[in-house]
Amino acid sequence: MVCRKAVEISGIVQGVGFRPFIYRLATENNLTGFITNTAAGVSIEVEGVADAVASFLSRLPKEVPPLAHITSLVVADRPSVADTEFRILPSRVGEERTVLISPDVALCHDCLAELFNPRDRRFRYPFINCTNCGPRYTIVRDIPYDRAKTSMAAFPMCPDCQREYDDPRDRRFHAQPNACWNCGPHVELWDRVGRRIDAGDPIPKTVELLAAGQIVAVKGLGGFHLAVDAMNEPAVALLRERKRRVEKPFAIMAPTLARLDELCQLDEVSRGLLQSPAHPILLLKKKQPERLAPFVAPFNRDLGVFLPYTPLHHLLFADERLSAVVMTSGNISEEPIAIDNAEAVERLHELADYFLVHNREILLRADDSVMRVAGGRGRQVRRSRGYVPAPIFLKEEVLPVLAVGGELKNTICITRGREAFLSQHIGDLENLESYKFFTSTVAGFKRILQVEPKILAYDLHPDYFCTRWALEQTGMERVGVQHHHAHIASCMAENHLEGRVIGFALDGTGYGTDGHVWGGEVLVCDHGEFERVAHLDYVPMPGGSAAILEPRRMAISYLFRHFGRDLWKLEIPFVRALDRRRTENLLKLIESGVNSPLTSSAGRLFDAVSALIGIRENVNYEAQAAIELEAAIDESGQDTGYPFAIREAGDEWIIDSHPLFEALVQDMRESVATGIISHKFHMGFVDVMGRAADLVRGRTGLDRICLSGGSFQNCFLSQHLQQRLEQQGFQVFTHAEVPCGDGGISLGQALVAAHRLAI
Ligand code: ZN
Ligand code: ZN
Ligand code: FE
Repeated sequence: MVCRKAVEISGIVQGVGFRPFIYRLATENNLTGFITNTAAGVSIEVEGVADAVASFLSRLPKEVPPLAHITSLVVADRPSVADTEFRILPSRVGEERTVLISPDVALCHDCLAELFNPRDRRFRYPFINCTNCGPRYTIVRDIPYDRAKTSMAAFPMCPDCQREYDDPRDRRFHAQPNACWNCGPHVELWDRVGRRIDAGDPIPKTVELLAAGQIVAVKGLGGFHLAVDAMNEPAVALLRERKRRVEKPFAIMAPTLARLDELCQLDEVSRGLLQSPAHPILLLKKKQPERLAPFVAPFNRDLGVFLPYTPLHHLLFADERLSAVVMTSGNISEEPIAIDNAEAVERLHELADYFLVHNREILLRADDSVMRVAGGRGRQVRRSRGYVPAPIFLKEEVLPVLAVGGELKNTICITRGREAFLSQHIGDLENLESYKFFTSTVAGFKRILQVEPKILAYDLHPDYFCTRWALEQTGMERVGVQHHHAHIASCMAENHLEGRVIGFALDGTGYGTDGHVWGGEVLVCDHGEFERVAHLDYVPMPGGSAAILEPRRMAISYLFRHFGRDLWKLEIPFVRALDRRRTENLLKLIESGVNSPLTSSAGRLFDAVSALIGIRENVNYEAQAAIELEAAIDESGQDTGYPFAIREAGDEWIIDSHPLFEALVQDMRESVATGIISHKFHMGFVDVMGRAADLVRGRTGLDRICLSGGSFQNCFLSQHLQQRLEQQGFQVFTHAEVPCGDGGISLGQALVAAHRLAI
């Protein structure tokens, strides 16, 4: 019996080899009919004997191409039309505009095999790609995603490439960046002032330079990297000096998993992530003793590692002289990564000795994504290349909102129906370059998503660049969203939660509704509103932001808070080492309240403890003191933590660190080891948060808890707190797809704004 079915599919189904896949599946089953791209995805009709149609329909969702993602699939009956073949029909004109653009994808196995096959016509071609791999988002100028609207428009295809592109049975059918030696982009090696070096094949020459300890800026998928041999200590030190990056860890690219296995601790989940289509940087525990130059990731327990993901990377590593290469963003300190050849030479000529460039333009900048593994899952730390612009799928449709994020690790978010689009990592909006990147990302995102949001969500901090930008916009309804509410709403959105939840928002800094600096917050909230039910006790931050750079100041502030001027009588190394005059000036600042904002930040408490016990008194990068405090944990002692008190003040509970500091100072007097103290501090903090959760449940009856905020990048804290809360019978929700840090708050802002205005 013959039947005909119509199948409507939406999701990421264009530009990922979906039509050739359907073509193959239909012809294998002797079905006739067609497939065409539509506004929402693809539209299919198939006709044939009932069994064959059934087999087609059951295999379809199970065998989709690796990069496809189906969000809905609807089947309906159609009358037979007795067509004679299966055809790929041209896209319906003007309808492609709401379709999703794929993120960039690491080189696939088929292309890798061709790259090193001397008989292949693309042997050693640095831009080989196919429908299953290659650049996508970063080469887009406009939509629809079509070669003419990408930076590949500059390279008309040769007849061989065109034939592949037109053939639905070919792996390169409609692969927009398709190219070869004859028609595609090429690589050049330049010196530091941008003069081309005529050295035959530039790739072996680059390997030679790297092996000799030179710093080479290498143009990648989403921007330039600065590359240097990770085994060469003086070269790594020189890169640090030139980049003005004192201690912040560098990421390492190594040729194979086997090589990474020598450097750090791999498990099944991390192996899977490292080889996934996105090829993120993964933060993994180092193996001891360390094998790399100590300057790669000093004082750090973890190492950021990734595998080669462009053909160019594979060609560099094919030469066995390189076994591990530092690959760090091509920028000076926190500026955006360079993407254009001339711009790279202009901005990086004092950092790099040479430039390995090419003439395929990068149109949208995207840093490498950074992830870590916890609880058997990959967790986003910096969601960028390989993930953007794939949407976060929401539980329900929301109004279209543009949310502009926070000041640090900025991302923006645009919602469209059930999809929320988080932008790539934009960075810290403290310099002009980042600010330009921010405004161009807003414009670019609206263009490729074809959304003109009428609602604008922003952080309450009056001095944030993005907030000031938001307040200057006209024609949009504006909604200010509290920073920690945004964190929790982001976690709710990712986990498809509705209704009221308890939120633990723990981080460094966020503007509170009372004008103080929040960051150790227990909220009760839904998507629209929040109530602050508990928080860490306020302490002054002497010197404001100077106290962030100098954790020593927070240690003094906490000691003064709990011991007053008796702090001078404490017989502990920290106090003995204090400069009396400078410290007294700081105490006067605290007493007068001048330039000493009050904070309830968890980050600052961790900083204070780190400084007090002699781990880190000044930091070179964000959260360094807390990271090193976690790294110091020695679990060999007992599990009892330091005590904290919880007291009631009006409607709120205040988490009081007085007993903590009493006990901690006592341990220091008795010369208890730093690692033991760090462990007892972490355990005590987990314990008091568990008690706070019980109190809130007692008052509200709620038993769902969301954990969000940058402090949850602390694996010890996140794992132990989750365990503890689950033991107490709570349902605990955490982040995975969306960063728990400030890179994730734009999503939460968007959800809060959409819900407030929907009511
Ligand atoms: Zn491929
Ligand atoms: Zn060609
Ligand atoms: Fe935050």
